[in-house]
Amino acid sequence: MVNMLDASSTLKRFEFRKVLMGVAARIVVYAPDREIAAWACSRAFQRIADLEDLMSDYRPHSELMRLCSEGHLAPVRVSDDLFFVLQRALELSRLSNGAFDITVGPFVALWRRARQTKQLPSEEELRQVRQLVGWEKIQLDPETRTVKLAVPNMKLDLGGIAKGYAADCALKVLKRFGLNRALIELGGDIVLGDPPPNRKGWRIGILDENGKPTRFLELANCAISTSGSTEQFVEIGNRRYAHIVDPRTGLGLTKLVLVTVIAKDGITADSLATALCVLGEKEGRKLAEAYGAIAFFRERDL
Ligand code: ADP
Ligand code: MG
Repeated sequence: MVNMLDASSTLKRFEFRKVLMGVAARIVVYAPDREIAAWACSRAFQRIADLEDLMSDYRPHSELMRLCSEGHLAPVRVSDDLFFVLQRALELSRLSNGAFDITVGPFVALWRRARQTKQLPSEEELRQVRQLVGWEKIQLDPETRTVKLAVPNMKLDLGGIAKGYAADCALKVLKRFGLNRALIELGGDIVLGDPPPNRKGWRIGILDENGKPTRFLELANCAISTSGSTEQFVEIGNRRYAHIVDPRTGLGLTKLVLVTVIAKDGITADSLATALCVLGEKEGRKLAEAYGAIAFFRERDL
Protein backbone atom coordinates (compact mmCIF):
# COMPACT_ATOMS: atom_id res chain seq x y z
CA MET A 1 0.00 0.00 0.00
CA VAL A 2 1.21 3.49 -0.79
CA ASN A 3 1.86 5.66 2.21
CA MET A 4 -0.84 8.25 2.62
CA LEU A 5 0.24 11.85 2.79
CA ASP A 6 1.21 12.48 6.38
CA ALA A 7 -2.08 13.99 7.51
CA SER A 8 -0.61 15.18 10.80
CA SER A 9 1.39 17.89 9.02
CA THR A 10 -1.85 19.71 8.20
CA LEU A 11 -3.20 19.63 11.72
CA LYS A 12 -3.65 22.85 13.70
CA ARG A 13 -3.70 23.39 17.43
CA PHE A 14 -6.94 24.40 19.14
CA GLU A 15 -7.66 25.07 22.78
CA PHE A 16 -10.99 25.33 24.61
CA ARG A 17 -11.79 26.11 28.25
CA LYS A 18 -14.79 25.72 30.51
CA VAL A 19 -15.57 25.40 34.20
CA LEU A 20 -16.76 21.87 34.97
CA MET A 21 -16.87 19.73 38.11
CA GLY A 22 -16.01 22.86 40.06
CA VAL A 23 -12.62 23.31 38.38
CA ALA A 24 -11.05 24.79 35.27
CA ALA A 25 -11.38 22.35 32.40
CA ARG A 26 -9.16 22.67 29.33
CA ILE A 27 -8.82 20.70 26.13
CA VAL A 28 -5.95 21.08 23.70
CA VAL A 29 -6.45 19.24 20.45
CA TYR A 30 -4.85 19.01 17.00
CA ALA A 31 -7.45 18.93 14.23
CA PRO A 32 -7.78 19.63 10.50
CA ASP A 33 -9.97 22.68 11.10
CA ARG A 34 -11.72 24.74 13.77
CA GLU A 35 -15.20 23.35 13.04
CA ILE A 36 -14.32 19.74 13.77
CA ALA A 37 -12.22 20.75 16.79
CA ALA A 38 -14.97 22.89 18.30
CA TRP A 39 -17.64 20.30 17.66
CA ALA A 40 -15.64 17.40 19.11
CA CYS A 41 -14.58 19.43 22.15
CA SER A 42 -18.14 20.53 22.87
CA ARG A 43 -19.16 16.84 22.85
CA ALA A 44 -16.26 16.03 25.16
CA PHE A 45 -17.20 18.83 27.57
CA GLN A 46 -20.80 17.60 27.45
CA ARG A 47 -19.64 14.10 28.43
CA ILE A 48 -17.89 15.60 31.47
CA ALA A 49 -21.00 17.63 32.37
CA ASP A 50 -23.14 14.48 32.14
CA LEU A 51 -20.78 12.63 34.48
CA GLU A 52 -20.90 15.58 36.87
CA ASP A 53 -24.70 15.19 36.90
CA LEU A 54 -24.32 11.54 37.89
CA MET A 55 -21.52 11.83 40.42
CA SER A 56 -21.76 15.20 42.11
CA ASP A 57 -22.25 15.24 45.86
CA TYR A 58 -23.42 18.85 45.69
CA ARG A 59 -26.46 18.10 43.51
CA PRO A 60 -29.21 16.55 45.61
CA HIS A 61 -30.69 14.72 42.60
CA SER A 62 -27.50 13.21 41.19
CA GLU A 63 -27.50 9.44 40.76
CA LEU A 64 -24.90 9.27 43.51
CA MET A 65 -27.08 11.16 45.99
CA ARG A 66 -30.07 8.98 45.16
CA LEU A 67 -27.92 5.94 45.89
CA CYS A 68 -26.92 7.47 49.23
CA SER A 69 -30.52 8.09 50.26
CA GLU A 70 -31.98 4.75 49.08
CA GLY A 71 -29.05 2.33 49.02
CA HIS A 72 -29.59 0.99 52.54
CA LEU A 73 -33.21 -0.03 51.81
CA ALA A 74 -32.57 -2.32 48.85
CA PRO A 75 -29.90 -2.78 46.17
CA VAL A 76 -29.99 0.16 43.74
CA ARG A 77 -29.29 -0.36 40.04
CA VAL A 78 -26.86 2.29 38.77
CA SER A 79 -25.38 3.43 35.46
CA ASP A 80 -22.35 1.68 33.92
CA ASP A 81 -20.30 4.81 34.61
CA LEU A 82 -21.12 5.01 38.31
CA PHE A 83 -20.72 1.25 38.76
CA PHE A 84 -17.29 1.28 37.14
CA VAL A 85 -16.08 4.19 39.29
CA LEU A 86 -17.39 2.51 42.46
CA GLN A 87 -15.63 -0.74 41.50
CA ARG A 88 -12.32 1.02 40.94
CA ALA A 89 -12.71 3.00 44.17
CA LEU A 90 -13.30 -0.14 46.23
CA GLU A 91 -10.40 -1.96 44.59
CA LEU A 92 -8.12 0.90 45.61
CA SER A 93 -9.57 0.92 49.12
CA ARG A 94 -8.64 -2.74 49.46
CA LEU A 95 -5.13 -2.27 48.06
CA SER A 96 -4.47 0.87 50.14
CA ASN A 97 -5.77 -0.68 53.38
CA GLY A 98 -8.51 1.91 53.49
CA ALA A 99 -6.34 5.01 52.97
CA PHE A 100 -8.51 5.74 49.93
CA ASP A 101 -12.13 5.55 51.00
CA ILE A 102 -15.08 7.17 49.21
CA THR A 103 -17.31 6.70 52.26
CA VAL A 104 -15.46 9.57 54.01
CA GLY A 105 -18.27 11.94 52.93
CA PRO A 106 -19.45 12.57 56.51
CA PHE A 107 -15.87 13.42 57.57
CA VAL A 108 -15.55 15.72 54.56
CA ALA A 109 -18.81 17.41 55.62
CA LEU A 110 -17.31 18.05 59.08
CA TRP A 111 -14.18 19.42 57.40
CA ARG A 112 -16.30 21.77 55.28
CA ARG A 113 -18.07 22.95 58.42
CA ALA A 114 -14.72 23.47 60.16
CA ARG A 115 -13.63 25.61 57.23
CA GLN A 116 -16.64 27.86 57.86
CA THR A 117 -16.59 27.94 61.66
CA LYS A 118 -12.83 27.49 62.30
CA GLN A 119 -13.74 24.84 64.86
CA LEU A 120 -12.72 21.20 64.72
CA PRO A 121 -15.45 18.59 65.18
CA SER A 122 -15.73 17.19 68.71
CA GLU A 123 -14.64 13.66 69.64
CA GLU A 124 -18.29 12.76 70.05
CA GLU A 125 -19.19 14.02 66.57
CA LEU A 126 -16.32 12.10 65.04
CA ARG A 127 -17.36 8.97 66.92
CA GLN A 128 -20.95 9.21 65.68
CA VAL A 129 -20.02 9.92 62.11
CA ARG A 130 -17.53 7.04 62.08
CA GLN A 131 -20.46 4.58 62.08
CA LEU A 132 -21.26 5.80 58.56
CA VAL A 133 -17.73 5.42 57.24
CA GLY A 134 -15.95 2.33 55.91
CA TRP A 135 -15.61 1.04 52.37
CA GLU A 136 -16.73 -2.46 53.41
CA LYS A 137 -20.16 -0.93 53.93
CA ILE A 138 -20.56 -0.71 50.13
CA GLN A 139 -21.58 -3.96 48.45
CA LEU A 140 -21.45 -4.25 44.67
CA ASP A 141 -23.15 -6.90 42.60
CA PRO A 142 -21.69 -6.92 39.07
CA GLU A 143 -24.31 -9.39 37.82
CA THR A 144 -27.19 -7.00 38.44
CA ARG A 145 -25.05 -3.83 38.48
CA THR A 146 -26.57 -2.93 41.82
CA VAL A 147 -25.17 -1.27 44.91
CA LYS A 148 -26.21 -1.89 48.50
CA LEU A 149 -25.18 0.28 51.43
CA ALA A 150 -24.93 -1.32 54.87
CA VAL A 151 -26.35 1.56 56.93
CA PRO A 152 -28.57 4.62 56.39
CA ASN A 153 -27.17 8.15 56.02
CA MET A 154 -23.94 7.14 54.32
CA LYS A 155 -22.41 9.82 52.14
CA LEU A 156 -20.24 8.76 49.22
CA ASP A 157 -17.72 11.29 47.94
CA LEU A 158 -16.13 10.76 44.52
CA GLY A 159 -14.08 13.97 44.72
CA GLY A 160 -10.83 11.98 44.68
CA ILE A 161 -11.58 9.86 41.60
CA ALA A 162 -14.36 11.28 39.39
CA LYS A 163 -12.35 13.98 37.62
CA GLY A 164 -9.74 11.51 36.39
CA TYR A 165 -12.46 9.24 35.07
CA ALA A 166 -14.26 12.13 33.41
CA ALA A 167 -11.06 13.18 31.65
CA ASP A 168 -10.62 9.59 30.38
CA CYS A 169 -14.15 9.66 29.01
CA ALA A 170 -13.59 13.04 27.35
CA LEU A 171 -10.52 11.68 25.55
CA LYS A 172 -12.58 8.74 24.28
CA VAL A 173 -15.10 11.18 22.80
CA LEU A 174 -12.34 13.06 20.96
CA LYS A 175 -10.95 9.78 19.63
CA ARG A 176 -14.35 8.90 18.22
CA PHE A 177 -13.97 12.05 16.10
CA GLY A 178 -10.53 10.88 15.02
CA LEU A 179 -8.83 13.49 17.18
CA ASN A 180 -6.24 11.35 18.96
CA ARG A 181 -3.70 14.13 19.50
CA ALA A 182 -5.30 15.65 22.56
CA LEU A 183 -4.72 16.82 26.12
CA ILE A 184 -7.51 17.11 28.68
CA GLU A 185 -7.00 18.94 31.95
CA LEU A 186 -9.54 18.99 34.78
CA GLY A 187 -8.14 20.81 37.78
CA GLY A 188 -5.11 18.81 38.90
CA ASP A 189 -5.85 15.90 36.60
CA ILE A 190 -4.42 15.61 33.09
CA VAL A 191 -5.09 12.90 30.51
CA LEU A 192 -3.00 12.67 27.35
CA GLY A 193 -3.67 11.06 23.98
CA ASP A 194 -1.15 10.91 21.14
CA PRO A 195 1.49 13.67 21.10
CA PRO A 196 1.30 16.86 19.03
CA PRO A 197 2.49 16.43 15.39
CA ASN A 198 6.24 15.84 15.05
CA ARG A 199 6.71 15.60 18.80
CA LYS A 200 7.42 12.68 21.10
CA GLY A 201 5.09 13.88 23.80
CA TRP A 202 3.29 16.70 25.56
CA ARG A 203 5.55 18.82 27.75
CA ILE A 204 4.20 18.42 31.27
CA GLY A 205 5.54 20.29 34.27
CA ILE A 206 5.82 18.49 37.61
CA LEU A 207 5.14 20.92 40.48
CA ASP A 208 7.57 21.40 43.34
CA GLU A 209 6.40 21.97 46.93
CA ASN A 210 5.82 25.64 46.15
CA GLY A 211 3.41 24.76 43.37
CA LYS A 212 5.92 25.75 40.66
CA PRO A 213 6.67 23.46 37.73
CA THR A 214 10.37 22.67 38.04
CA ARG A 215 10.76 19.37 36.17
CA PHE A 216 9.44 18.80 32.69
CA LEU A 217 8.60 15.51 31.04
CA GLU A 218 7.50 14.64 27.51
CA LEU A 219 4.55 12.31 27.87
CA ALA A 220 1.79 10.76 25.74
CA ASN A 221 -0.98 8.19 26.12
CA CYS A 222 -1.00 8.32 29.90
CA ALA A 223 -2.37 10.44 32.75
CA ILE A 224 -0.85 12.75 35.35
CA SER A 225 -2.56 13.80 38.58
CA THR A 226 -1.41 15.96 41.43
CA SER A 227 -3.01 15.95 44.88
CA GLY A 228 -1.98 17.48 48.11
CA SER A 229 -2.47 19.61 51.14
CA THR A 230 -0.93 22.80 49.81
CA GLU A 231 -3.98 24.42 48.21
CA GLN A 232 -7.17 23.52 50.04
CA PHE A 233 -6.90 23.54 53.82
CA VAL A 234 -8.31 25.14 56.93
CA GLU A 235 -6.00 26.55 59.60
CA ILE A 236 -7.08 25.97 63.22
CA GLY A 237 -4.87 26.44 66.27
CA ASN A 238 -1.67 26.79 64.23
CA ARG A 239 -2.37 23.57 62.40
CA ARG A 240 -3.45 23.07 58.84
CA TYR A 241 -6.05 20.46 58.00
CA ALA A 242 -6.15 19.57 54.31
CA HIS A 243 -9.25 18.62 52.31
CA ILE A 244 -7.89 15.08 52.02
CA VAL A 245 -9.08 13.15 55.04
CA ASP A 246 -7.21 10.42 56.85
CA PRO A 247 -9.99 7.84 57.27
CA ARG A 248 -8.31 6.59 60.47
CA THR A 249 -8.63 9.93 62.29
CA GLY A 250 -11.55 11.46 60.43
CA LEU A 251 -9.56 14.70 60.19
CA GLY A 252 -7.85 16.41 57.29
CA LEU A 253 -4.18 15.56 56.71
CA THR A 254 -1.93 17.77 58.80
CA LYS A 255 1.31 17.15 56.93
CA LEU A 256 2.51 19.16 54.00
CA VAL A 257 2.31 16.79 51.08
CA LEU A 258 2.12 17.02 47.32
CA VAL A 259 2.03 13.87 45.22
CA THR A 260 2.13 13.63 41.45
CA VAL A 261 1.28 10.30 39.85
CA ILE A 262 1.82 9.21 36.27
CA ALA A 263 -0.38 6.23 35.40
CA LYS A 264 -1.95 4.58 32.40
CA ASP A 265 -5.24 6.46 32.67
CA GLY A 266 -6.95 9.29 34.52
CA ILE A 267 -9.03 7.27 36.93
CA THR A 268 -5.91 5.47 38.15
CA ALA A 269 -3.75 8.60 38.42
CA ASP A 270 -6.42 10.69 40.16
CA SER A 271 -7.40 8.15 42.80
CA LEU A 272 -3.82 7.00 43.40
CA ALA A 273 -2.61 10.57 43.94
CA THR A 274 -5.22 11.04 46.68
CA ALA A 275 -4.43 7.65 48.24
CA LEU A 276 -0.67 8.28 48.23
CA CYS A 277 -1.13 11.59 50.07
CA VAL A 278 -2.71 9.63 52.92
CA LEU A 279 -0.29 6.68 52.83
CA GLY A 280 2.93 8.64 52.63
CA GLU A 281 6.01 7.84 50.60
CA LYS A 282 7.13 4.47 51.94
CA GLU A 283 3.86 2.58 51.58
CA GLY A 284 2.74 4.78 48.73
CA ARG A 285 5.56 3.73 46.44
CA LYS A 286 4.63 0.07 46.79
CA LEU A 287 1.03 0.82 45.93
CA ALA A 288 2.04 2.90 42.90
CA GLU A 289 4.15 -0.02 41.72
CA ALA A 290 1.19 -2.38 42.05
CA TYR A 291 -0.64 -0.15 39.57
CA GLY A 292 2.38 0.19 37.26
CA ALA A 293 2.47 3.90 38.09
CA ILE A 294 5.24 6.36 38.93
CA ALA A 295 4.93 8.72 41.89
CA PHE A 296 6.74 11.93 42.86
CA PHE A 297 6.51 12.78 46.55
CA ARG A 298 7.15 16.05 48.28
CA GLU A 299 6.29 15.93 51.96
CA ARG A 300 7.25 17.28 55.33
CA ASP A 301 5.60 17.70 58.72
CA LEU A 302 3.98 21.05 59.38
P1 ADP B 1 -8.75 17.66 44.18
O1 ADP B 1 -10.19 17.29 44.20
O2 ADP B 1 -8.44 18.90 44.95
O3 ADP B 1 -8.13 17.60 42.82
P2 ADP B 1 -8.04 15.03 45.12
O4 ADP B 1 -8.14 14.34 43.81
O5 ADP B 1 -6.92 14.64 45.98
O6 ADP B 1 -7.96 16.58 45.00
O7 ADP B 1 -9.39 14.73 45.88
C1 ADP B 1 -9.67 15.28 47.13
C2 ADP B 1 -11.13 15.01 47.40
O8 ADP B 1 -11.32 13.60 47.61
C3 ADP B 1 -11.64 15.68 48.65
O9 ADP B 1 -12.12 16.96 48.37
C4 ADP B 1 -12.75 14.74 49.05
O10 ADP B 1 -13.89 15.02 48.27
C5 ADP B 1 -12.24 13.38 48.65
N1 ADP B 1 -11.48 12.69 49.71
C6 ADP B 1 -10.94 13.23 50.84
N2 ADP B 1 -10.28 12.30 51.56
C7 ADP B 1 -10.38 11.13 50.86
C8 ADP B 1 -9.90 9.81 51.09
N3 ADP B 1 -9.16 9.49 52.16
N4 ADP B 1 -10.22 8.86 50.17
C9 ADP B 1 -10.97 9.17 49.08
N5 ADP B 1 -11.44 10.40 48.81
C10 ADP B 1 -11.16 11.38 49.68
MG1 MG C 1 -7.36 12.49 43.31
